[in-house]
Amino acid sequence: MAVLAECAYCHKKQSVRNKLCTCGADLVKLKRSKKVKYWIGYRIPGDKQRREPIGYSIEEARDAEGKRRSQKRENRIFDMLAEAKMTFKELAEWYLGLKAVKKLASYDRVELALKNFNTVFGDKLVGTIFMTSGEQSKPTC
Ligand SMILES: [Zn+2]
Repeated sequence: MAVLAECAYCHKKQSVRNKLCTCGADLVKLKRSKKVKYWIGYRIPGDKQRREPIGYSIEEARDAEGKRRSQKRENRIFDMLAEAKMTFKELAEWYLGLKAVKKLASYDRVELALKNFNTVFGDKLVGTIFMTSGEQSKPTC
């Protein structure tokens, strides 16, 4: 996990320790004038590297990184995924809208199965299902 600094000119994301961007921009000066956007980079097990834009304050970026770090340590992976904040209905819409899925010969059956599932679970957030099943879950209050 790392906090990354984005150059205001070439938009390259790089170590916050860099003083000079490869494009020649003076990162120290840009940081001072709050023109550097901070990102956090992290890896979720089984997933590619993720990057999340935070803003123009390095303190905020460090806080956000700390939050992700503790979520990862506690295995609260689903809290980290934007998808977990979707309802199943939204997830089904997204899935059925995929080009590869639309081409399926079984599209009608898949659509029907999801429709049946969503008559019960449609309004539930995807993340809440994962948190109430599975062995890592603890009651959250
Ligand atoms: Zn640059």
